[in-house]
Amino acid sequence: MLLIIADIGGYTRYMTANAKTLAHGQVIITELIHAIVREIALPLEIAKLEGDAVFLFCRKSPDALQWMSMRAEISRSLLTFFYLFQKRLQELSQSNHCTCQACSHIEKLALKIIVHSGEALFHRVLHFEELAGVDVIIVHRLLKNSVPAGQYLLLTESAMRELQFPETVTFKPGSETYEDIGRLTTAYHDFDLQPFTGGAAETKTFGARYTQAWQTFGKLWFGPFSLRGPSFRNLPGQSGRAGKMGFAILTLLLTPIMLPFGAVVSALQAIRMGRS
Ligand SMILES: [Zn+2]
Repeated sequence: MLLIIADIGGYTRYMTANAKTLAHGQVIITELIHAIVREIALPLEIAKLEGDAVFLFCRKSPDALQWMSMRAEISRSLLTFFYLFQKRLQELSQSNHCTCQACSHIEKLALKIIVHSGEALFHRVLHFEELAGVDVIIVHRLLKNSVPAGQYLLLTESAMRELQFPETVTFKPGSETYEDIGRLTTAYHDFDLQPFTGGAAETKTFGARYTQAWQTFGKLWFGPFSLRGPSFRNLPGQSGRAGKMGFAILTLLLTPIMLPFGAVVSALQAIRMGRS
């Protein structure tokens, strides 16, 4: 079975220091995760969706020929995730009017994908099925690694044997050592060195730009209502409950005057997007 984690991080503690930046950080990361999740299709399946990460798996086909074509398809999907991430990141950055730390540092966010091939069991916890086993631990442990890159695809030796990437996607050798697991031979592809240039810049009409700016505005504005606690492992500055509540109440009180304000802000943003 292939075990895959896609994980978004890059904000530091000071970038998410208060309730507003934390809420905006969560909204932005959620949008980016959704951009990937929307495109997940068989043979890839979602095992678990966390705040800033999604854990996927793929059952290996017992038919060797079928698996040959499947593995090329999976490799393509993984590369597509980076493209989708980059595309949505650009959209969010362009349509964003906000100057908070989380919004003005969107480009610090990076996607890492970790792939390991091994065995896993479905373990039933109450009504949920969870993947369990040593290899599940390994792929999670690999989230903390020594890869000298911000945005990368990291494969274990066993995953490297299973997947098949185009020749243009080059890998560098690496290794990781964990106290309880031992030494793992890995390989990684650095997306910082080869930035994604796929898809020429689209020219959008004013109407399309306005809609995009308005959607981003709305999502950020209502961000405090969607705060869901500790599932965001990569957001360091978790503000207190009182801070979150206070911010949510403030948001609610200001919502009536937000609509005309947001309409103006979105229009200005749409004009600005047209110039850039
Ligand atoms: Zn913001």
